[in-house]
Amino acid sequence: MHRRLTAPGALAAASVLLAIPASAASGSPGAPGIGDPYYPAYGNGGYDVSHYDLRLKYRPATDELEGTATILAKTTQDLSRFDLDFLLDVSEVRVDGAVAAFATSGEHELVVTPKKTLAEGAQVTVVVRYRGVPSSKQAYGFTSWHRTPDGGVGANEPEAAWWWFPSNDHPLDKATYDVSVQVPDGTQALSNGTLQSTSSRAGWTRFNWRSGKPQATYLATLAVGRFDLTTGTTESGIPVVNAYSRDLGDNAGAARASVERTGEIADWLSGYLGPYPFDALGGYVPNTNTGYALETQTRPFYSPRQFAGGSNTSVVVHELAHQWYGDFVSVAGWKDIWLNEGFARYAQWLWSEHEDEGTAREIADYVYASHPADDAFWTVKPGDPGPENQFDIAVYDRGALAVQALRDELGDEAFFAVLKGWPREHAYGNATVSDFVRYAERVSGRQLGALFDAWLFQPSKPAASAARTAAAAKAAAAPAQPKSWKKIAATNDVHAH
Ligand SMILES: [Zn+2]
Repeated sequence: MHRRLTAPGALAAASVLLAIPASAASGSPGAPGIGDPYYPAYGNGGYDVSHYDLRLKYRPATDELEGTATILAKTTQDLSRFDLDFLLDVSEVRVDGAVAAFATSGEHELVVTPKKTLAEGAQVTVVVRYRGVPSSKQAYGFTSWHRTPDGGVGANEPEAAWWWFPSNDHPLDKATYDVSVQVPDGTQALSNGTLQSTSSRAGWTRFNWRSGKPQATYLATLAVGRFDLTTGTTESGIPVVNAYSRDLGDNAGAARASVERTGEIADWLSGYLGPYPFDALGGYVPNTNTGYALETQTRPFYSPRQFAGGSNTSVVVHELAHQWYGDFVSVAGWKDIWLNEGFARYAQWLWSEHEDEGTAREIADYVYASHPADDAFWTVKPGDPGPENQFDIAVYDRGALAVQALRDELGDEAFFAVLKGWPREHAYGNATVSDFVRYAERVSGRQLGALFDAWLFQPSKPAASAARTAAAAKAAAAPAQPKSWKKIAATNDVHAH
């Protein structure tokens, strides 16, 4: 995933808008950020979105995107004006049908001032007309838009939406989506969820995608290019749509041999994590030159480079495990990233065991022994790593060690009950690390504060668990590298920048 160079400062109220005369219900401006201490300007205050309807047209030859976004929201305060997060060029904004004033502010704020103050609790419809060349736009000196030889892709974490639709860009504000994209005939447009229909007219083909379950903005994706689509159905009846760029070259076979395992892997994961929570499934591999993958909801994004060393089902396990840990239940704030990455990584360890390439216990022992006490690895606190270390390797590997430590403490029966019960507990919502600690304590009847403090919040190497000590005593030498290790480690490129 993307890692920021510098955390953005809180936005000054640098608005150039005309002062709005105070009236009976004067209201106040919505905050320019939703209140995430890692990213103060991300998301916005004053409203909550329930649905995005995006009607888009994209020209691969020139990377031009034009669109109309219809946003359904409910105000959470008397609102004199509000922000959306967006980078493309806006030509018109309407609020409840009436033309609204707008201006840009900060790195990615679109400030909208409706004619009249919006009352708290009102259902509001915002229409934004826009166009632009996404690859020409940057915020904080980076872009999340991948230009490809045959089109473009929007996929990144924590930010991707700014380049293709205006939004309240924070996981706390989930919504449903209809994404309709018109592209030249012979080109495909991919997004999340189910493909409702396609139609062709005058040299253009329109693809209509629907995501009927709440989805965080960073989990929404758009990809346009020349793709081959494959379809299937999981054992549990979920329709699968995968897509592969026609220009994957030497990586084409390995990519398909991995991503075509999606249905099987989702079925396998549901044995540990509960029923698959969405009505669509798949994955896509565009011909980007990036190195990472992302758990875009129902349809993860994979870079071809993930498969440069041959097939890798471990990365598919990682991104599909996120469908429960990350997508079904999303972080309440970006400091809660362990709830995503610690568990997606642990799922890879379970898959290794399933494939007879090293047990979770063996991998945990190997990781633990690989990092001596003075390794900087142990200074990263997975439970609150800071924005600069949000995607540090320790969030993944130390994070998964914390999951193994919980398993050691609870025993398999209680541990697997927690692992499977947690996603359902916060279905389609958000949660914090402390919510998880409380949940694990409630299910197990154990006090777990000290255990989680040592593994998630101390900048030092925790003492080995009794289980690990016993395993180490049996093996005279240092733990051997598990067979699956290289494939699991290859997933790390996923998150390198
Ligand atoms: Zn991940």
